[in-house]
Amino acid sequence: MITRFAPSPTGHLHIGGARTALFNYLLARGLGGKFVLRVEDTDAQRSTEEYTKSILSAMEWLGLSWDGEPVFQTDRTGLHVEHAERLVAEGRAYWCRCTPEEIEESRKKAMAEGGKPRYDGRCRELGLGPSPGAVIRFKCPPGGQVRWRDLIKGPIVFEASELDDLVILRSDGLPTYNMAVVVDDITMGVTHVVRGDDHVNNTPRQILLYQALGAELPEFGHVPMILGSDKSRLSKRHGATSVMAYQEAGYLPQALVNYLARLGWSHGDQEIFSLEEMVGVFSLRHVGKAAAVFDPNKLDWLNAHYIKNTPPDELCSLLKPFLEKRGLPAPDGEKLLKIVLTLRERSKTLAEMAGKAEFYFGDLPKFDPKSAEQLLALLKTPEGADAPAKDAGGKAILEKWLGLLQELPRTREDFDQLLSGLAAELGVKAGVVAKPLRLALTGSTASPGLHEIMEILGPEVTLGRIRAAAETPEGYPQVRQPA
Ligand code: GLU
Repeated sequence: MITRFAPSPTGHLHIGGARTALFNYLLARGLGGKFVLRVEDTDAQRSTEEYTKSILSAMEWLGLSWDGEPVFQTDRTGLHVEHAERLVAEGRAYWCRCTPEEIEESRKKAMAEGGKPRYDGRCRELGLGPSPGAVIRFKCPPGGQVRWRDLIKGPIVFEASELDDLVILRSDGLPTYNMAVVVDDITMGVTHVVRGDDHVNNTPRQILLYQALGAELPEFGHVPMILGSDKSRLSKRHGATSVMAYQEAGYLPQALVNYLARLGWSHGDQEIFSLEEMVGVFSLRHVGKAAAVFDPNKLDWLNAHYIKNTPPDELCSLLKPFLEKRGLPAPDGEKLLKIVLTLRERSKTLAEMAGKAEFYFGDLPKFDPKSAEQLLALLKTPEGADAPAKDAGGKAILEKWLGLLQELPRTREDFDQLLSGLAAELGVKAGVVAKPLRLALTGSTASPGLHEIMEILGPEVTLGRIRAAAETPEGYPQVRQPA
């Protein structure tokens, strides 16, 4: 078995393409076959080396390793031409010298007769040879049907009468898409052509070419499209569509691969799969026929799962570039590890984790606007008997904390004791004494555990932050610019 992935380097790797690549990879690896990569770079105008590199690196990042060197379609033009000329020599194709006007005329005529617009084959039997501007056309057999049993969609039938005498070699001497793909798939020994279902209409033409070239047909499988939440084809309008964009947003490759596999494929009700595990159980028989809807929340859920389950030291290295992107110098190993341990259960992406880590840096935290308002309001509330039961005496509470935390509690239990002692002393709930402290330390109302935070900040920064809040100097607190 040989499967292939054949991207055109006219853009970054799209997640639909990544899923097609993944299915081909799983199919080959599962059955001990080969998975090859062919870069279809024949569109000279739109193909770039940069996109080629980007696609290959996205594949590597996803872990979809291919066998051998990548094959470039433009290196194989000679082979394509040779096969086209062979078809001419065998009377299965012919040189056509029709001008665009003549072709247009024959299309119009076909339509006027109630048919589909098609070339009437007027050069078919003229026995013409090459000349400037001439193309090679394939002689589409008259009548009959082209059928195949699609590995995903089941039996598919096309009327041969609907197919044109398609151009296989253009006047500039280059093969057309269908010719190049067929010659490459034959000569590369591809046994299973699994690709997006936007190619279903090409398949009958390709089958006729296989037959004319006397080659054995491969199996075909057409993978349904991916749709956005509004059921239209997934596009930039729906958010990120390239694998690279997900990488940059802090998704883990395992999460994306797991998500893409489950998009249209199922194995009982299991949701979490490693790539290796999928190799063992994947089958095209369990790929759905209908288009699948992309669900960003499910991807987030999976990503959070993989973040939680990544060894913390590995997570540190993964997080570093995301911290650097925010201008935060990655702290030494021990401290970064502690930070990661407080955040790994509460982050959906690495980018989000880096954002949540921001308050650990610098002398004072930056506040989100709402939390800044809340702290200022708390600092103004009166204390004692006049205070409302909730949120009483923020300033007094912070001053109490300053006294209590001159020496940082050693364990979480020690801290909890301080907290409940202070609450009892003031006759308020624990949350009331924790809230101004949390705001002063983190600039937010939601954060990891206070004891862990203080341990990471260290005594000096901890006390400095509480003091600043209690004293509320001019310009305090600093508010973070909305992202
Ligand atoms: N290069 C084609 C594309 O990117 C795929 C061709 C094929 O898989 O047959 O759409």
